[in-house]
Amino acid sequence: MPLAMEKDPFGALGCWSTRRPYNLTPRTQLRSCMSDCLFCKIIAGQIPSKKVYEDEKVFVFQDINPQAPVHFLIIPREHIVGLKEATEKDAEIIGYCQLIAAKLGREYKIEDGYRTVLNVGPKSGQSVFHLHLHLIGGRDMTWPPG
Ligand code: AMP
Ligand code: ZN
Repeated sequence: MPLAMEKDPFGALGCWSTRRPYNLTPRTQLRSCMSDCLFCKIIAGQIPSKKVYEDEKVFVFQDINPQAPVHFLIIPREHIVGLKEATEKDAEIIGYCQLIAAKLGREYKIEDGYRTVLNVGPKSGQSVFHLHLHLIGGRDMTWPPG
């Protein structure tokens, strides 16, 4: 049976794990309800974080192990494993994360130099498999990165 025809598994209550209300298609609901994902739990408030910004598409919080005076993680509310798992339908949210980085770069006055970093795969250092954009700034940086 096509997903659109299936009975809505979460109904009006929202995600069974996060209890977040949904106004999404069943397929998107399933992708956004990853009960074992650290960052989904942070979005749901099940694990504490230092929130910097949120809107209907993204959640932004301070990295627990900051590598610079400003080190934020910008994450889509929807669970996407990583860049190499993303598809065309994720293009808008990936671009949106970059624009949120630019907005926060302005607000936190780090426009003289910051980086947005998206680690892809274990060799790059990706350790959390919910797509996230690092916004790092507030200090001099070297190139190439390690
Ligand atoms: P990556 O290595 O690109 O996957 O980035 C994951 C980032 O998540 C690292 O910089 C970690 O310091 C950060 N991190 C892990 N757990 C938490 C947490 N509970 N709260 C905030 N940041 C976290
Ligand atoms: Zn997740």
